[in-house]
Amino acid sequence: MTTDAILTEGPLDVLVLGAGISGIGAGHYLRTEHPSKSFAILESRDVAGGTWNLFKYPGIRSDSDLNTFGYEFKPWRDPQAIADAPRILDYLHEAITEDSLDDVIVYNRRATSIDWSEAEQLWNVTVHRNDTDEDSEAGDDFVITARWIFSGTGYYNYAEGFTPEFPGIEKFTGQVVHPQHWPEDLDYAGKKVVVIGSGATAVTLVPSMADKTEHVTMLQRTPTYVIPLPREDVVSNAMKKVLGAERGYALSRQKNILQQKIVFNLCQRYPKPARKIIRATNAAQLPKDFDVDTHFNPPYNPWDQRLCVVPDGDLFKAIRKGTASIETGHITTFTENGILLEDGTELDADIIVTATGLNLQLFGGMDIKVDGQTVDLSSTVAYRGMMLSGIPNFAMAIGYTNSSWTLKIGLLCEYFCRMLTYMDATEHTSVRAVADPAMPTRPLLDFAAGYVQRALDRLPKQGTQAPWTMTMAVSADVKQLRKGDIVDEYLDYRRAAVPAETASAV
Ligand SMILES: Cc1cc2nc3c(=O)[nH]c(=O)nc-3n(C[C@H](O)[C@H](O)[C@H](O)COP(=O)(O)OP(=O)(O)OC[C@H]3O[C@@H](n4cnc5c(N)ncnc54)[C@H](O)[C@@H]3O)c2cc1C
Repeated sequence: MTTDAILTEGPLDVLVLGAGISGIGAGHYLRTEHPSKSFAILESRDVAGGTWNLFKYPGIRSDSDLNTFGYEFKPWRDPQAIADAPRILDYLHEAITEDSLDDVIVYNRRATSIDWSEAEQLWNVTVHRNDTDEDSEAGDDFVITARWIFSGTGYYNYAEGFTPEFPGIEKFTGQVVHPQHWPEDLDYAGKKVVVIGSGATAVTLVPSMADKTEHVTMLQRTPTYVIPLPREDVVSNAMKKVLGAERGYALSRQKNILQQKIVFNLCQRYPKPARKIIRATNAAQLPKDFDVDTHFNPPYNPWDQRLCVVPDGDLFKAIRKGTASIETGHITTFTENGILLEDGTELDADIIVTATGLNLQLFGGMDIKVDGQTVDLSSTVAYRGMMLSGIPNFAMAIGYTNSSWTLKIGLLCEYFCRMLTYMDATEHTSVRAVADPAMPTRPLLDFAAGYVQRALDRLPKQGTQAPWTMTMAVSADVKQLRKGDIVDEYLDYRRAAVPAETASAV
């Protein structure tokens, strides 16, 4: 187990926050592109893996195919393309071992605040100790220094999932469970379960629980687009067999990136035919008399929100078998025995699962200061989706919301490493993006999901033109990040010796 010594020996060149898929990926790029740099990965929990370790609900799996959700530098070899959490965690642990990241991950340490010192050209990072040992008490805070912060802290609050205020919830005599806080010993065998929600979590849970429960009902207010996809990608698996893991994986990635792009663009450009095709696919997998138009007909267009994938049509299979069903309606109140809907329907339940989402939170809720002044994130603008205006030496890992998150993280890491190389060569010690205050801005994420909409006014903004856009397309990011300029009119590089007031942009 790595100790605090790695943190306290002196300024780290880079402090990576979070040992999820983003932080581990950043560790790889630092190891390979900047082997002489000192860095540590601070992880607030006692394990690596982030999302893929936190969620413990039955069936927890990816929505994305792992040929694109995996790292560019590490082939995904498992035959499952839509993979369950244990397989993703195995892959991440392999990545940790292959890059000897165990030597640099410090667990149970949470960054609670970071404060940039312009005079020292350093971040002062307040670290909260989440565990105890013979020399320290849980809750002790200590301060460490780092030249750069790379924040791989994900996008939601780990402490608490989102549950709306349901009227009468206190009357319900059964058990209410949120998927983010799944009791590992929850016994649902032979029980009546209602899952509230229609997102990726609900459509994963319902078929996964259906074989054990007496019955499971998915209760949704608004339907989502649900697409059946094979769990195994036979073409990719064949390519890996014939061409070898490395080449087969590289080709599978290109194939799937192209596939995702085509589907996304077609849905956005031709929403009506796309809607018809999805409806026909759903109807073909559902019983003949099933009310497809009530339960699988969202009021928005395909890809205005993320589509839900069901591997091998498992949700449809459970509905066909009669072990699962869907109700679409509004809740009037929870009752002693379940839920009463506005149309008078009563749903009996022993267990109610509130698959109602996440609380969006950036940077683990950390306080970000520059020379002691707290930065109002909503007044910052994202630069190339990697930095925020006015915050020096700070990189953030926010991936795609319309395709695999990781596709963007790899490109961000490449740009970040090129920036470090340039700064070493030119002996600059800091860089910040400077936004024109008159620049038009728009919300950081163009995404209609509830958890995004609830948080938009607290989030940074994006501009309307490159390099200030938060692009959601690999091809645009290849231009903006892989090939993008490291020096431009918006980047203010500085050297330690130059006082802040007199420093000029390069
Ligand atoms: C159930 C579920 C399924 C998903 N499926 C997909 C999918 O199929 N495809 C897809 O593209 N995306 C998916 N996502 C989104 C997913 O979260 C990301 O794709 C990806 O896992 C995020 O990785 P990350 O490393 O950036 O963040 P996370 O996985 O959230 O990891 C962040 C890490 O940072 C740590 N941390 C946070 N704050 C601090 C701090 N202040 N100090 C130190 N450590 C800190 C956390 O403990 C955590 O370990 C899913 C999300 C959920 C919730």
